[in-house]
Amino acid sequence: MDKSEIKNRGIMLVISSPSGAGKSTLTKLLMHQDDNIMLSISATTRPPRPGEVDGVDYFFISLEEFRKKIDNGEMLEWAAVLNGSNLYGTPKTPVYEALEAGKDVLFDIDWQGTQQLHAKAKDDVVKVFVLPPTASALEQRLHSRAQDSIEVINARMKSASREIEHWAEYDYIVINDDLKESEAKLKAILYAEKQKRIRQQGMVEFVRDIQGELRLKFEN
Ligand code: ADP
Ligand code: 5GP
Repeated sequence: MDKSEIKNRGIMLVISSPSGAGKSTLTKLLMHQDDNIMLSISATTRPPRPGEVDGVDYFFISLEEFRKKIDNGEMLEWAAVLNGSNLYGTPKTPVYEALEAGKDVLFDIDWQGTQQLHAKAKDDVVKVFVLPPTASALEQRLHSRAQDSIEVINARMKSASREIEHWAEYDYIVINDDLKESEAKLKAILYAEKQKRIRQQGMVEFVRDIQGELRLKFEN
């Protein structure tokens, strides 16, 4: 068997952070680098921010539509995020279709969604938590993004500490200080995770063939 026949099993790469730490920015950078990654587009009941596009950044839907999707089993995971005022969830079908096509799937979801994914697909999920370098950098980033009202920014800062409480549930921690460095770290994580034995389908046959050849040539 040739090594080109070894196929990688798709990874579900989850990136979580307190809002404003930079995960959307990092997610976009990673997507531009790698054709084999698909970004899971979440559904949410929150209104779009200026510049956000329906079907690109999120599927912006009503609370009623969201509840219907939960009832129909269309959500892979879902949660009430931040102070619970809005629901966010991952539509199931596109994720399974991408994984079946051999793609990696990137999830920008919170700790509650991460726990649900982990419970459903432990072996396929790789969890990364992104931290800001300092608390004031987080606040500054939320202001510089200039997409939320002061009230919303304050609410995000208020819940940041509670979200960070979950950091130890993640496999990798990236402190997002220098953007380029953080991007390189994420790429390295993905690259290393792909080399894991369980993710290399066909490895059993590959190893068996090499052993057979060795035995044939050298053990007789
Ligand atoms: P999140 O998706 O975690 O809420 P964003 O990706 O929207 O955060 O980033 C929040 C703001 O911080 C954006 O204006 C973004 O350009 C900026 N930002 C992200 N990463 C960095 C970084 N390493 N250094 C400086 N600014 C950053
Ligand atoms: P934002 O309103 O800033 O876009 O997102 C707020 C939070 O919701 C972020 O922490 C983000 O990761 C989380 N989030 C976005 N989509 C989903 C989702 O589909 N499921 C869950 N559980 N959280 C999500």
